Amino acid sequence: MSADDAVRVLADKFASDGAAEYLGEPVTQAAHMLQAAMLAEQDRAEAALVAAALLHDVGHFAEAMTGHDLMSGTDTRHGAAGASWLAQWFGPEVTEPVRLHVAAKRYLCATEPDYLAALSPASVYTLGVQGGPMQGDELAGFEEHPYAAAAIRVRRWDDRAKDPEVTPPPFSHFERLLRSLTR
Ligand code: FE
Repeated sequence: MSADDAVRVLADKFASDGAAEYLGEPVTQAAHMLQAAMLAEQDRAEAALVAAALLHDVGHFAEAMTGHDLMSGTDTRHGAAGASWLAQWFGPEVTEPVRLHVAAKRYLCATEPDYLAALSPASVYTLGVQGGPMQGDELAGFEEHPYAAAAIRVRRWDDRAKDPEVTPPPFSHFERLLRSLTR
């Protein structure tokens, strides 16, 4: 599949599945992901991290979920499901932060007292489904991951990208950046 095809598939997904409600948040899935990418751009993040922020929740889109993911609960698995779907087009610099963005939340809940307190009610609720704050060996294991820092950055944009007053740029704003990252 060419880079243009990949961008077209993703644009279609944002327009269709993206219109759905985002887990009890006041923005749609698409608006949430576009806001996350906008925040990454505002922080002058490298292209791969802007793309990771834009695509971090594609695991919530129906096509990205396999039977296995559905069996194990979509919420705990959406990072992994999204990353493996995206791997058909993108390298680990994009897919790994996507895969690890739920782990990054569990890590930050364990290591930053203020982080948990600032989470949205829906995000506190899903934390339980996702395994709660990390403990013991899990913390060191996460820190050793080469994409841990990238995943934490994506996570912080993710948490801020739920503002119903913010109008993010359209998907087309990010198409050239996405095309430059497809392999
Ligand atoms: Fe998210």
